[in-house]
Amino acid sequence: MTKEIIITKREEQISNLDMLPRWDRSLINYEKYHRFVGQSGIRYEMTVQATRGCPFRCFYCDVQHITPFHRRRSVESVFDEVKYLYDIGVRRSEFIDDAFNVNIKEFKAFFRKVIEAKLDMSFYFQSGLRGDLLDEEAVDLMVAGGAKSVNLSLESASPRLQKLMGKNLKIDKLYKNLQYIVNTYPNLIVGLNAMHGFPTETEEEAKATVDFIFDIKWLHFAQLHNVRIFPNSRLEAVALENGVTKEEIERSLTLPYHMIPETIKLDHEFSRRLRLHFVHDYVLNKERLRYVLDKEFNVMNEEELKFKYQTIFPTRINTIDDILRLAKLKREDMDFSKMPKMDDFKIKYPKRIPPPKIYSAFCLSI
Ligand code: SF4
Repeated sequence: MTKEIIITKREEQISNLDMLPRWDRSLINYEKYHRFVGQSGIRYEMTVQATRGCPFRCFYCDVQHITPFHRRRSVESVFDEVKYLYDIGVRRSEFIDDAFNVNIKEFKAFFRKVIEAKLDMSFYFQSGLRGDLLDEEAVDLMVAGGAKSVNLSLESASPRLQKLMGKNLKIDKLYKNLQYIVNTYPNLIVGLNAMHGFPTETEEEAKATVDFIFDIKWLHFAQLHNVRIFPNSRLEAVALENGVTKEEIERSLTLPYHMIPETIKLDHEFSRRLRLHFVHDYVLNKERLRYVLDKEFNVMNEEELKFKYQTIFPTRINTIDDILRLAKLKREDMDFSKMPKMDDFKIKYPKRIPPPKIYSAFCLSI
């Protein structure tokens, strides 16, 4: 039998996402599925996607504007889905959007509706929110509405590099928002991602990024990644213009993530020292670890904490005692009784409330 591949034409992007029927969650056996943790490191959650495509055109992946345009569902449509989840007994939901708060007015409107409806839900934004678009009102609303964990990106504290990468993050605004979050809502698990080794990055710029993190003393999780260059990205074009070769990019693709690739043109001894300073004096700082762990005990249980720390220290964490050891703490120093009980989140089946229509589409990215 001859097999023939039929290449269909490129379909138009769906512009009105509200038209799509909703998932029928009752068709899935979540009792089996919930043995696993989600991206946020929690169990018994269901994901929601409020937007599709990417709102940005930054240089990591944009060579010919291949990322689909950003489309979003209305506040009502997103709220209806969350209400549906609540009614079938779900209490935790993770938003998998790239940046759910790109439209800050709608972001606030969503949380106002959740608060008005008194939905006792917990929300997780592990894929990230755009930190410079938040303001104090947005932070207050999201925490009052149930946000438990938020990931933000700094990438670089250099305005010049922000422009080069096409993110144009307002560094001062992010700084102000982070200070507000850590001082006002210490129980909100906030993570910050930064990067090291951009083409043309100077030592001063690399230090400024690390100094930015040190200035926000009480971040729960901070990570400093090495910049990776992917073939055919605009970043690759910038790197090639600035002394990086195709061969170096090729070799860097298979390198373990913690190793400094040849594509980073900063002095590697400088890079190693900077990373050591970051890990020793920030990530493993005992005072910081004790403070954040005490807060994390209010929102995560033992298993979830272990999983979260494993993502940062994959080879060092097997039990919660390993985490406590990092902070020079013992079990008796901590109040385990305040940890949330898993039974509060277990979804009490069966409570079958099928949504109006059954959604059979499978592609999440268009
Ligand atoms: S790297 Fe991510 S944020 Fe940047 S354009 Fe691509 S999808 Fe969007």
